[in-house]
Amino acid sequence: GAYLSAIEQANPSINAYVAVTAQKALEQAAKSDDALAKGEGGSLEGIPLGIKDLFGTEGVHTQACSHVLDGFKPRYESTVTANLWADGAVMLGKLNMDEFAMGSSNETSYYGPVTNPWRGNDNNKALVPGGSSGGSAAAVAAHLCAAATATDTGGSIRQPAAFTGTVGIKPTYGRCSRWGVVAFASSLDQAGPIARDVRDAAIMLKSMASTDPRDTTSVDLPVPDYEAAIGQSIKGMRIGIPDEYRMEGMPQEIETLWQKGIAWMKDAGAEIVPISLPHTKYALPAYYIVAPAEASSNLARYDGVRYGLRKPGDDIVDMYENTRAAGFGPEVKRRVMIGTYVLSAGYYDAYYLRAQKVRTLIKRDFETVFDQGVDAILTPATPSAAFGIADQDMAADPVKMYLNDIFTVTVNMAGLPGISVPAGLDDNGLPLGLQLIGKPFEEETLFRLSHVIE
Ligand code: GLN
Repeated sequence: GAYLSAIEQANPSINAYVAVTAQKALEQAAKSDDALAKGEGGSLEGIPLGIKDLFGTEGVHTQACSHVLDGFKPRYESTVTANLWADGAVMLGKLNMDEFAMGSSNETSYYGPVTNPWRGNDNNKALVPGGSSGGSAAAVAAHLCAAATATDTGGSIRQPAAFTGTVGIKPTYGRCSRWGVVAFASSLDQAGPIARDVRDAAIMLKSMASTDPRDTTSVDLPVPDYEAAIGQSIKGMRIGIPDEYRMEGMPQEIETLWQKGIAWMKDAGAEIVPISLPHTKYALPAYYIVAPAEASSNLARYDGVRYGLRKPGDDIVDMYENTRAAGFGPEVKRRVMIGTYVLSAGYYDAYYLRAQKVRTLIKRDFETVFDQGVDAILTPATPSAAFGIADQDMAADPVKMYLNDIFTVTVNMAGLPGISVPAGLDDNGLPLGLQLIGKPFEEETLFRLSHVIE
């Protein structure tokens, strides 16, 4: 009840929710009250959550914040959200995001931008919350839900978490089922939580993670008690510091933050090891070939026949064209065109195949470092703090926007777990995050180390 009235009050200015499911929330909450009265509650009994609009929720608005899915209410529930409800969580509504999760600022949403609840000291300019999970991060930061689901294809959990002073973890590829989640780039997409602290993120991930016969890339491994890892000593653990992440032109405050993180790790007894990830500089260009290629294929299904929007035409091809022209925003169209181009005969070998080879090299870089006994890698989460809504530089040059993902995409390319933890404020009083990258399926290590930072 308190969360619903907070949403009513604050959402018109923040725009984090695109649909509020008050009725469902009250029903679920009543059930939770009964369960708790009988002493039977699940791990999330009665906890009110916001759900990114990318997750299929039965009978509830699910549009990936795209016009093309107008009015779509699936007849199924995604595995991740079903897991949360089974543990007693309560759904407050669906959260704003970049259209089909393509973006780093939440400005490509059909429902308009989300405003970051944080403001800089120097002025009153409205800032982006990051993206694509901008609604999730803003809702958590503004206390419009206790925690939220999010997804991360190239940084979309970690970058918005960093921009809003929240904790976001992208687990290992395969840890959570992708079933029922609208697909962007299937070989990179992973679900994960955004939460107010490391402990909440651990409890959320424990519930969200599962193996699922309906997603054959989900792994059949036990899901550890992540919460139990928090507070365990990190003495003697080896933390890698990749030389290649010291990017040219990186703001001094990011470097300072990184040094602070290194000092905290040392103070807690960890050993700092300089490492090299030599293929880092190719990660961003390779990502922007692989992700659009997969997206162009995944988005072929939105043709006006099966879901949502339909714009009539003279014949069926005309109808497809009219629907897609009206239904997709400019960023989605750009990705579909890039993807179609790099997959087309004659260009496939030069772009797509080459990018896949680069991806293998990036993966090997990490394997080599982990084989040398490194337990986790510490880097900044983003190259800057949150920027302004409708930033002129970014609008003029999409590549500037893509550079936001410079520290996060390698992790998706290699399928590894990565967490962003709030680590302090910049000179302007805005939150900054540090990222920890772990070995496959060792999210526990990340929770253990993160607790030292927060
Ligand atoms: N910003 C990146 C992109 O636009 C990553 C998005 C994501 O992780 N979903 O592709």
